[in-house]
Amino acid sequence: MSQPKYLTGDKAGIDEFLSRFDVFLFDCDGVLWSGDHMFDNVPQTLEMLRSKGKQLVFVTNNSTKSRADYKKKFDKLGIPAKVDEVFGSSYSAAVYIARILKLPGPKNKVFVLGESGIEQELEAEGVPYCGGTDPSLRRDIEPEDFANIANGTLLDPDVGIVLSGLDFHMNYLKTSIAFQYIQRGALHLATNIDSTLPMAHSFFPGAGASSAALVKAVGKGEPTSFGKPSQAMMDAIEGKFQFDRSRTCMIGDRLNTDIQFGIDGKLGGTLAVLTGVSKKEDFLAEGAKTVPSAYVDALSDLLG
Ligand code: PLP
Ligand code: CA
Repeated sequence: MSQPKYLTGDKAGIDEFLSRFDVFLFDCDGVLWSGDHMFDNVPQTLEMLRSKGKQLVFVTNNSTKSRADYKKKFDKLGIPAKVDEVFGSSYSAAVYIARILKLPGPKNKVFVLGESGIEQELEAEGVPYCGGTDPSLRRDIEPEDFANIANGTLLDPDVGIVLSGLDFHMNYLKTSIAFQYIQRGALHLATNIDSTLPMAHSFFPGAGASSAALVKAVGKGEPTSFGKPSQAMMDAIEGKFQFDRSRTCMIGDRLNTDIQFGIDGKLGGTLAVLTGVSKKEDFLAEGAKTVPSAYVDALSDLLG
Protein backbone atom coordinates (compact mmCIF):
# COMPACT_ATOMS: atom_id res chain seq x y z
CA MET A 1 0.00 0.00 0.00
CA SER A 2 1.45 3.41 -0.92
CA GLN A 3 2.35 5.87 1.84
CA PRO A 4 -0.10 8.75 2.39
CA LYS A 5 1.11 12.16 1.21
CA TYR A 6 1.72 14.70 3.98
CA LEU A 7 0.25 17.96 2.64
CA THR A 8 0.83 20.41 5.51
CA GLY A 9 3.19 23.13 4.23
CA ASP A 10 3.34 21.63 0.70
CA LYS A 11 1.60 24.25 -1.48
CA ALA A 12 2.19 22.46 -4.78
CA GLY A 13 1.07 19.14 -3.28
CA ILE A 14 -2.13 20.75 -1.95
CA ASP A 15 -2.96 22.34 -5.33
CA GLU A 16 -2.42 19.03 -7.13
CA PHE A 17 -4.49 17.12 -4.53
CA LEU A 18 -7.43 19.57 -4.63
CA SER A 19 -7.43 19.62 -8.45
CA ARG A 20 -8.27 15.89 -8.46
CA PHE A 21 -11.71 16.43 -6.89
CA ASP A 22 -15.01 18.20 -7.58
CA VAL A 23 -16.78 17.01 -4.42
CA PHE A 24 -15.59 16.88 -0.81
CA LEU A 25 -17.47 14.82 1.77
CA PHE A 26 -16.66 16.32 5.15
CA ASP A 27 -16.80 14.61 8.49
CA CYS A 28 -17.78 17.22 11.11
CA ASP A 29 -16.68 16.50 14.68
CA GLY A 30 -12.87 16.29 14.79
CA VAL A 31 -12.46 18.09 11.42
CA LEU A 32 -14.52 21.31 11.60
CA TRP A 33 -14.90 21.43 15.37
CA SER A 34 -14.41 19.53 18.60
CA GLY A 35 -17.56 19.73 20.72
CA ASP A 36 -18.40 23.44 20.76
CA HIS A 37 -14.93 24.63 19.79
CA MET A 38 -14.42 25.42 16.09
CA PHE A 39 -10.90 24.82 14.77
CA ASP A 40 -8.91 27.77 13.35
CA ASN A 41 -9.83 29.17 9.92
CA VAL A 42 -12.51 26.59 9.11
CA PRO A 43 -14.89 29.10 7.39
CA GLN A 44 -11.97 30.44 5.32
CA THR A 45 -10.96 26.92 4.23
CA LEU A 46 -14.51 26.02 3.18
CA GLU A 47 -14.79 29.37 1.36
CA MET A 48 -11.55 28.65 -0.52
CA LEU A 49 -12.95 25.29 -1.67
CA ARG A 50 -16.28 26.81 -2.69
CA SER A 51 -14.48 29.57 -4.62
CA LYS A 52 -12.77 26.83 -6.65
CA GLY A 53 -16.24 25.47 -7.53
CA LYS A 54 -16.05 22.43 -5.23
CA GLN A 55 -19.26 20.90 -3.91
CA LEU A 56 -19.27 20.29 -0.15
CA VAL A 57 -21.37 17.75 1.78
CA PHE A 58 -21.17 17.49 5.58
CA VAL A 59 -21.50 13.86 6.62
CA THR A 60 -21.93 13.05 10.29
CA ASN A 61 -22.66 9.89 12.26
CA ASN A 62 -24.22 11.93 15.07
CA SER A 63 -27.83 10.70 15.13
CA THR A 64 -28.85 12.77 18.15
CA LYS A 65 -29.18 15.84 15.94
CA SER A 66 -31.32 16.35 12.85
CA ARG A 67 -30.05 18.23 9.81
CA ALA A 68 -31.93 21.31 11.02
CA ASP A 69 -30.20 20.99 14.43
CA TYR A 70 -26.86 20.73 12.64
CA LYS A 71 -27.58 23.84 10.59
CA LYS A 72 -28.12 25.68 13.90
CA LYS A 73 -24.75 24.41 15.10
CA PHE A 74 -23.05 25.62 11.90
CA ASP A 75 -24.75 29.02 12.35
CA LYS A 76 -23.72 29.26 16.00
CA LEU A 77 -20.09 28.57 15.16
CA GLY A 78 -20.20 30.94 12.16
CA ILE A 79 -19.60 28.27 9.51
CA PRO A 80 -21.64 28.96 6.36
CA ALA A 81 -23.64 25.88 5.27
CA LYS A 82 -27.08 25.02 3.91
CA VAL A 83 -29.39 22.42 5.48
CA ASP A 84 -29.30 20.58 2.16
CA GLU A 85 -25.52 20.18 2.41
CA VAL A 86 -25.83 18.28 5.71
CA PHE A 87 -26.18 14.51 5.65
CA GLY A 88 -26.59 12.86 9.07
CA SER A 89 -27.02 9.20 9.98
CA SER A 90 -30.61 9.84 11.20
CA TYR A 91 -31.48 11.38 7.85
CA SER A 92 -29.76 8.53 6.01
CA ALA A 93 -31.82 5.94 7.94
CA ALA A 94 -35.09 7.90 7.53
CA VAL A 95 -34.60 8.25 3.76
CA TYR A 96 -33.89 4.52 3.46
CA ILE A 97 -36.99 3.59 5.47
CA ALA A 98 -39.29 6.02 3.65
CA ARG A 99 -38.04 5.79 0.08
CA ILE A 100 -36.33 2.42 -0.34
CA LEU A 101 -37.71 0.01 2.23
CA LYS A 102 -41.27 1.36 1.96
CA LEU A 103 -42.79 -1.26 4.31
CA PRO A 104 -46.49 -1.60 3.56
CA GLY A 105 -48.80 -0.05 6.19
CA PRO A 106 -49.77 -0.70 8.88
CA LYS A 107 -46.45 -2.48 9.63
CA ASN A 108 -44.41 0.62 8.74
CA LYS A 109 -44.10 2.11 12.21
CA VAL A 110 -40.64 2.56 13.71
CA PHE A 111 -39.77 1.99 17.36
CA VAL A 112 -36.95 4.46 18.09
CA LEU A 113 -34.14 3.73 20.52
CA GLY A 114 -32.47 7.13 20.44
CA GLU A 115 -32.85 10.86 20.68
CA SER A 116 -34.95 13.56 19.00
CA GLY A 117 -32.67 13.84 15.93
CA ILE A 118 -34.01 10.48 14.78
CA GLU A 119 -37.63 11.44 15.50
CA GLN A 120 -37.33 14.72 13.56
CA GLU A 121 -35.90 13.05 10.46
CA LEU A 122 -38.53 10.28 10.50
CA GLU A 123 -41.24 12.90 10.86
CA ALA A 124 -39.84 14.93 7.94
CA GLU A 125 -39.97 11.79 5.77
CA GLY A 126 -43.53 11.02 6.90
CA VAL A 127 -42.59 7.82 8.74
CA PRO A 128 -44.73 6.99 11.82
CA TYR A 129 -42.75 6.23 14.97
CA CYS A 130 -43.02 5.58 18.71
CA GLY A 131 -40.54 5.19 21.58
CA GLY A 132 -37.69 7.68 21.28
CA THR A 133 -38.13 10.56 23.69
CA ASP A 134 -41.53 9.34 24.96
CA PRO A 135 -41.36 10.30 28.68
CA SER A 136 -43.50 7.32 29.72
CA LEU A 137 -40.58 5.02 28.76
CA ARG A 138 -37.96 6.94 30.74
CA ARG A 139 -38.47 4.99 33.95
CA ASP A 140 -37.44 1.80 35.75
CA ILE A 141 -39.09 -1.43 34.64
CA GLU A 142 -41.84 -2.56 37.06
CA PRO A 143 -42.76 -6.21 37.78
CA GLU A 144 -46.05 -5.93 35.81
CA ASP A 145 -44.18 -4.58 32.74
CA PHE A 146 -42.72 -8.02 32.03
CA ALA A 147 -46.21 -9.53 31.64
CA ASN A 148 -47.50 -6.52 29.71
CA ILE A 149 -44.61 -6.68 27.25
CA ALA A 150 -44.94 -10.46 26.85
CA ASN A 151 -48.73 -10.31 26.27
CA GLY A 152 -48.35 -7.34 23.90
CA THR A 153 -50.28 -4.76 25.97
CA LEU A 154 -47.21 -2.49 26.05
CA LEU A 155 -46.41 -3.09 22.37
CA ASP A 156 -47.73 -1.29 19.30
CA PRO A 157 -48.94 -3.85 16.71
CA ASP A 158 -47.93 -1.55 13.83
CA VAL A 159 -44.19 -1.59 14.62
CA GLY A 160 -42.21 -3.28 11.83
CA ILE A 161 -38.80 -1.68 12.42
CA VAL A 162 -36.59 -0.99 15.44
CA LEU A 163 -34.16 1.86 14.71
CA SER A 164 -31.35 2.29 17.21
CA GLY A 165 -28.92 5.15 17.66
CA LEU A 166 -27.19 6.72 20.62
CA ASP A 167 -29.74 6.88 23.43
CA PHE A 168 -28.72 8.98 26.43
CA HIS A 169 -31.77 7.59 28.25
CA MET A 170 -31.34 3.91 27.48
CA ASN A 171 -32.87 1.61 30.08
CA TYR A 172 -34.06 -1.96 30.60
CA LEU A 173 -37.69 -1.14 29.77
CA LYS A 174 -36.92 0.26 26.29
CA THR A 175 -34.37 -2.47 25.58
CA SER A 176 -36.96 -5.13 26.51
CA ILE A 177 -39.64 -3.58 24.29
CA ALA A 178 -37.23 -3.31 21.35
CA PHE A 179 -36.12 -6.90 21.89
CA GLN A 180 -39.72 -8.15 21.83
CA TYR A 181 -40.45 -6.29 18.59
CA ILE A 182 -37.44 -7.91 16.91
CA GLN A 183 -38.39 -11.35 18.28
CA ARG A 184 -41.83 -10.82 16.73
CA GLY A 185 -40.34 -10.10 13.30
CA ALA A 186 -39.42 -6.39 13.26
CA LEU A 187 -36.27 -5.42 11.33
CA HIS A 188 -33.39 -4.07 13.38
CA LEU A 189 -31.69 -1.06 11.75
CA ALA A 190 -29.16 1.36 13.26
CA THR A 191 -28.31 4.96 12.49
CA ASN A 192 -24.67 4.16 13.25
CA ILE A 193 -22.69 1.65 15.29
CA ASP A 194 -19.69 3.73 16.48
CA SER A 195 -18.04 1.97 19.40
CA THR A 196 -17.12 5.22 21.13
CA LEU A 197 -18.24 8.83 21.38
CA PRO A 198 -15.47 11.43 21.58
CA MET A 199 -16.41 14.04 24.22
CA ALA A 200 -14.47 16.46 26.42
CA HIS A 201 -11.04 15.14 25.28
CA SER A 202 -12.01 11.62 26.31
CA PHE A 203 -14.16 8.73 25.08
CA PHE A 204 -17.60 7.51 26.14
CA PRO A 205 -19.78 4.61 24.90
CA GLY A 206 -21.04 5.28 21.35
CA ALA A 207 -24.19 4.31 19.47
CA GLY A 208 -22.88 0.79 18.86
CA ALA A 209 -22.37 0.33 22.58
CA SER A 210 -25.86 1.68 23.27
CA SER A 211 -27.49 -0.96 21.04
CA ALA A 212 -25.05 -3.73 22.06
CA ALA A 213 -27.33 -5.13 24.79
CA LEU A 214 -30.07 -5.57 22.22
CA VAL A 215 -27.69 -7.11 19.67
CA LYS A 216 -26.41 -9.57 22.27
CA ALA A 217 -29.93 -10.56 23.38
CA VAL A 218 -31.18 -11.05 19.80
CA GLY A 219 -28.04 -12.95 18.78
CA LYS A 220 -28.29 -12.31 15.04
CA GLY A 221 -25.27 -10.00 14.66
CA GLU A 222 -25.04 -6.29 14.00
CA PRO A 223 -28.02 -4.42 12.53
CA THR A 224 -27.72 -2.73 9.13
CA SER A 225 -26.14 0.64 9.84
CA PHE A 226 -26.78 3.89 7.99
CA GLY A 227 -23.70 5.70 9.28
CA LYS A 228 -20.05 5.69 8.17
CA PRO A 229 -18.40 3.33 7.19
CA SER A 230 -21.58 1.60 5.97
CA GLN A 231 -22.00 1.88 2.22
CA ALA A 232 -25.76 2.20 2.75
CA MET A 233 -24.93 5.79 3.76
CA MET A 234 -22.72 6.34 0.69
CA ASP A 235 -25.52 5.05 -1.55
CA ALA A 236 -28.00 7.36 0.18
CA ILE A 237 -25.68 10.38 -0.30
CA GLU A 238 -25.14 9.44 -3.93
CA GLY A 239 -28.90 9.06 -4.40
CA LYS A 240 -29.30 12.66 -3.35
CA PHE A 241 -26.26 14.36 -4.91
CA GLN A 242 -25.31 12.13 -7.89
CA PHE A 243 -21.53 12.67 -7.78
CA ASP A 244 -18.68 11.03 -9.66
CA ARG A 245 -16.98 8.84 -7.06
CA SER A 246 -13.61 9.03 -8.82
CA ARG A 247 -13.64 12.84 -8.40
CA THR A 248 -14.82 12.78 -4.78
CA CYS A 249 -12.70 12.96 -1.63
CA MET A 250 -13.70 11.99 1.93
CA ILE A 251 -12.14 14.17 4.64
CA GLY A 252 -12.24 12.83 8.20
CA ASP A 253 -10.45 12.35 11.50
CA ARG A 254 -11.33 8.71 12.19
CA LEU A 255 -9.78 5.86 10.22
CA ASN A 256 -12.32 3.15 11.00
CA THR A 257 -15.36 5.28 10.14
CA ASP A 258 -14.46 8.19 7.80
CA ILE A 259 -11.41 6.95 5.91
CA GLN A 260 -12.72 3.37 5.63
CA PHE A 261 -16.01 4.84 4.34
CA GLY A 262 -14.15 6.58 1.49
CA ILE A 263 -11.98 3.54 0.69
CA ASP A 264 -14.92 1.10 0.66
CA GLY A 265 -16.90 3.57 -1.47
CA LYS A 266 -14.03 3.57 -4.03
CA LEU A 267 -13.77 7.35 -3.88
CA GLY A 268 -10.92 9.08 -5.76
CA GLY A 269 -9.20 9.93 -2.48
CA THR A 270 -9.33 10.25 1.28
CA LEU A 271 -7.77 12.93 3.49
CA ALA A 272 -7.09 12.33 7.19
CA VAL A 273 -7.10 15.37 9.47
CA LEU A 274 -5.13 14.99 12.70
CA THR A 275 -7.32 17.19 14.95
CA GLY A 276 -9.57 14.32 16.06
CA VAL A 277 -9.56 10.67 17.03
CA SER A 278 -6.90 8.98 14.85
CA LYS A 279 -3.18 9.70 15.11
CA LYS A 280 -0.66 9.51 12.25
CA GLU A 281 1.03 6.52 13.94
CA ASP A 282 -2.24 4.62 13.35
CA PHE A 283 -1.87 4.73 9.57
CA LEU A 284 1.91 5.11 9.17
CA ALA A 285 2.51 1.89 11.11
CA GLU A 286 3.71 -1.16 9.16
CA GLY A 287 0.66 -3.23 8.10
CA ALA A 288 -1.91 -0.53 8.98
CA LYS A 289 -5.35 -1.65 7.78
CA THR A 290 -6.82 1.72 6.82
CA VAL A 291 -4.51 4.20 5.10
CA PRO A 292 -5.68 7.57 3.72
CA SER A 293 -4.36 8.98 0.42
CA ALA A 294 -3.09 12.10 2.19
CA TYR A 295 -3.09 13.82 5.56
CA VAL A 296 -2.80 17.28 7.14
CA ASP A 297 -2.27 18.38 10.73
CA ALA A 298 -5.40 20.58 10.58
CA LEU A 299 -8.05 21.34 7.97
CA SER A 300 -6.89 24.95 7.51
CA ASP A 301 -3.49 23.68 6.32
CA LEU A 302 -5.29 23.32 2.96
CA LEU A 303 -5.14 27.13 2.74
CA GLY A 304 -1.43 26.61 2.04
N1 PLP B 1 -22.52 10.35 17.51
C1 PLP B 1 -22.70 11.36 18.40
C2 PLP B 1 -23.84 11.30 19.34
C3 PLP B 1 -21.85 12.47 18.42
O1 PLP B 1 -22.05 13.46 19.31
C4 PLP B 1 -20.75 12.48 17.51
C5 PLP B 1 -19.85 13.61 17.51
O2 PLP B 1 -20.18 14.71 18.02
C6 PLP B 1 -20.61 11.43 16.61
C7 PLP B 1 -21.50 10.40 16.62
C8 PLP B 1 -19.53 11.41 15.58
O3 PLP B 1 -19.83 12.40 14.63
P1 PLP B 1 -18.93 12.65 13.33
O4 PLP B 1 -19.28 11.59 12.34
O5 PLP B 1 -19.34 14.03 12.89
O6 PLP B 1 -17.52 12.60 13.78
CA1 CA C 1 -15.33 12.67 13.27
